[in-house]
Amino acid sequence: MTKFDPEWELATRAIRVGHERTPEGEHSEPIFMTSSFVFGSAAEAAARFSGEDPGNIYARFTNPTVRAFEERLAAMEGGESCVATASGMSAILATSMGLLQQGDHLVSSRSIFGSTVVLFDKYLSRFGIETGYVDLDDLDAWEAAIRPNTRMLFVETPSNPLTALGDIRALADLAHAHDCLLVVDNCFCTPALQRPLELGADIVVHSATKYIDGQGRALGGAVVGDANRVGEEVFGVLRTAGPTISPFNAWIFLKGLETLDLRMRAHSAAAGQLAAWLEQQSAVARVHYPGLPSHPQHELAQRQQKAPGGILAFELKGGRDAAWQVVDSTRMLSITANLGDTKTTITHPASTTHGRLSEEQRQEAGITQGLIRIAVGLEDVGDIQKDLARGLDAL
Ligand SMILES: *Cc1c(COP(=O)(O)O)cnc(C)c1O
Repeated sequence: MTKFDPEWELATRAIRVGHERTPEGEHSEPIFMTSSFVFGSAAEAAARFSGEDPGNIYARFTNPTVRAFEERLAAMEGGESCVATASGMSAILATSMGLLQQGDHLVSSRSIFGSTVVLFDKYLSRFGIETGYVDLDDLDAWEAAIRPNTRMLFVETPSNPLTALGDIRALADLAHAHDCLLVVDNCFCTPALQRPLELGADIVVHSATKYIDGQGRALGGAVVGDANRVGEEVFGVLRTAGPTISPFNAWIFLKGLETLDLRMRAHSAAAGQLAAWLEQQSAVARVHYPGLPSHPQHELAQRQQKAPGGILAFELKGGRDAAWQVVDSTRMLSITANLGDTKTTITHPASTTHGRLSEEQRQEAGITQGLIRIAVGLEDVGDIQKDLARGLDAL
């Protein structure tokens, strides 16, 4: 049986934490596809239900494969507790339901995942929780948006698709000065590149669907934080309301974590190379990537992240026609809004992920018609470059 050694580095934690070998002596982690668990006696059943014996009862509450994934991710993020969920959205829902109540106010960065905006504006509002939005890199705006009833600051950094950064340490200090929690959606960086809890954040949420899986196979999410808020409050929502992860999906993510450090470094290296090349192209007006010295928060990225990540965006001088031409000239890249896959994806945000915004809202958010987002995969970077060059050279 492997015990968790707190001195282990991230790559070791990612491979060695969480699995307790069964008497079968399996080397790879087993999948416990079972919805319920059997008790040895009436007394044992009673002890499980009373909580006196912490063992398994029912898979909506606990499952050994799910627990292995939770323990591993908690060790990688440096949190006491982790609760896995059916999707990234249910991680954010369970966090909100577990830690907020009617009359509370939340402040969020403006450029967050689209469904998170809908969750906050359409659904949480029905339960008396209001949300205010600010630009993530404007600390004064965050402070000005905080009201006496604000209980949570929510940030996604780097932002999608423009890769603006929120200063996690400064936001944590601000949150704590106003009796608020700081929640960070760490989907883009993963603990391999950024550990918000070490920078003072209280809660980390994940869409495991993206880089934690890394190969676009399964939906899942997770919440990481302290034993009381996550282990009790958020877990309580999960075990009661039931957006529980499937043991099969938890196993995919558990195995995904083993290669996460390696993959995130490779995604970052390829994105860095591609970003530098794009900056040299005459059809390109601007490249947004935290690893470039031209990025306005390059210094913060170096301080806060271990590497700049796999996502970049660039603006074409020729507007929408040029952007669509580049997208349509690709033969290998996948035209899809998903990210965090071995396969490189290309998106025109203005007509897809941000298509439902008004042109004015898009202008405000910096989502121009000439903007293209690339989530750089793990193909040979020269081949990715060639696939983009076909469209760029024709402009
Ligand atoms: C995809 C995504 C989510 C939602 O996750 P699902 O697994 O699709 O529910 C939340 N936040 C970010 C940043 C995402 O990219």
